[in-house]
Amino acid sequence: MATPPTDRRPIIISGPSGVGKGTLYNRLFAQHPDAFCLSVSHTTRSPRVGETDGVDYHYVTMEAFEDLIAKDGFVEHAKFGGNRYGTSKMTIEEQTKKGRVVLLDIEMEGVKQIKQSSIAARYIFIAPPSIEILESRLRGRGTENEASVQKRLTQAHNELEFSKTPGVHDKIIVNDDLDKAYKELEDYIYQPSDS
Ligand code: ADP
Ligand code: 5GP
Repeated sequence: MATPPTDRRPIIISGPSGVGKGTLYNRLFAQHPDAFCLSVSHTTRSPRVGETDGVDYHYVTMEAFEDLIAKDGFVEHAKFGGNRYGTSKMTIEEQTKKGRVVLLDIEMEGVKQIKQSSIAARYIFIAPPSIEILESRLRGRGTENEASVQKRLTQAHNELEFSKTPGVHDKIIVNDDLDKAYKELEDYIYQPSDS
């Protein structure tokens, strides 16, 4: 089905690092070609093996990132694990023009900033079945060194605490069984109206 959802508001996906956000929305993109587009964020972190500049992120120096902040070029931005991440205004404008539903993968400080902006969005939180399973996924992905794993696990606790704030997220999905979690995500996104 290549049809976009009836609700065209941007979709904000958040959740601890390693919980499976990318796995879930990449499946959504594959199942619904041309219906969605990922908001390509700016980051100061280095590309992982297999990541491509301009596709996964715009990889920039700290100087370039701070320059864009000074020019008021971000819709939201935050620090995470010693790096900076942000959604540029330009990216949102370009993606919206494509006529697809824009999906943002951002952490909690970015979620708070989007909530305070004029952007009307749908907020989905992906939760792990347990911290132990989250840790094993994060390690199993093989992308992080020990220091990065520790920072991400510390941040995971903050994300999970924040997700308990009433009314912050429209939908919370526990990513235990992947097929089940994917179905829940797809059903929520494609429900006739977000009431
Ligand atoms: P995130 O984008 O949230 O950081 P990823 O999508 O990269 O997380 O997933 C982290 C790791 O967990 C990957 O190796 C992925 O294959 C694996 N994974 C994702 N969802 C599940 C699941 N439901 N069960 C088991 N492993 C999973
Ligand atoms: P990663 O380094 O694993 O790609 O991303 C680390 C964290 O940064 C994830 O929680 C991800 O959601 C978040 N993130 C990625 N891009 C952005 C962004 O543009 N803004 C904010 N606030 N967070 C982001």
